[in-house]
Amino acid sequence: MPDRCVVFGCSSVASLEKGISLHRIPFFNDERSEAKRRRKRWVNFVKATRDKWVPTKNSKVCSEHFTKDSFSRQFGSLSGSESNFAPRLIRDEFGIVAYPSIYPRKDDNELTTRDRRMILYHTIRCMQL
Ligand SMILES: [Zn+2]
Repeated sequence: MPDRCVVFGCSSVASLEKGISLHRIPFFNDERSEAKRRRKRWVNFVKATRDKWVPTKNSKVCSEHFTKDSFSRQFGSLSGSESNFAPRLIRDEFGIVAYPSIYPRKDDNELTTRDRRMILYHTIRCMQL
């Protein structure tokens, strides 16, 4: 099963085509107070959508929930299992500083992928006419 975004109502998978990347919740099992504080922002963000959710080391949040300035411009090589195209979240000497803040938009979620494809298809058709 592919990794999915853990935010309720989202469940995006990483997609180069849609420009969506997945980001593991940082500082898992890191008990330093600053690590806990930063991790908590991510966990609380997801918990606001899913009451009984418990984070695991594989929990990921997709790029749709971050503001643009959460990402560094550098598209370097990434370590581990992260995809090559994944933009990097900004970090300082301690680690990742960025945290998710944007909830899924309702209108968008009511559209299925098929709906979106149809809209795109019709838009292109209209442009050609
Ligand atoms: Zn998401």
